[in-house]
Amino acid sequence: MKKRSSEITIKNLSTWRKLILERDKYQCQECGMPHKDYFSIPKKLRPKMEAHHIIAIYKAPHLIFEMANGITLCRFCHRAKHAKKEKDE
Ligand SMILES: [Zn+2]
Ligand SMILES: [Zn+2]
Repeated sequence: MKKRSSEITIKNLSTWRKLILERDKYQCQECGMPHKDYFSIPKKLRPKMEAHHIIAIYKAPHLIFEMANGITLCRFCHRAKHAKKEKDE
């Protein structure tokens, strides 16, 4: 992956997660969950969306805050991804 200078400097994982989720409109890129009314669901009842590193950060630590290395997944797809590989976050 070619290194690009990004407009935003991301300094921590929670910022990275938030930006990934916002970029993907809080939709799981694997199964399409949840529906578009995500924000109309009371916060407590919302399915929790998670940001996943496409290339595990233990393999590529320099990609930890790279937007291109992030993908939004629901809890279930995220777990399924990690079930196949070693835990990376
Ligand atoms: Zn999913
Ligand atoms: Zn993950």
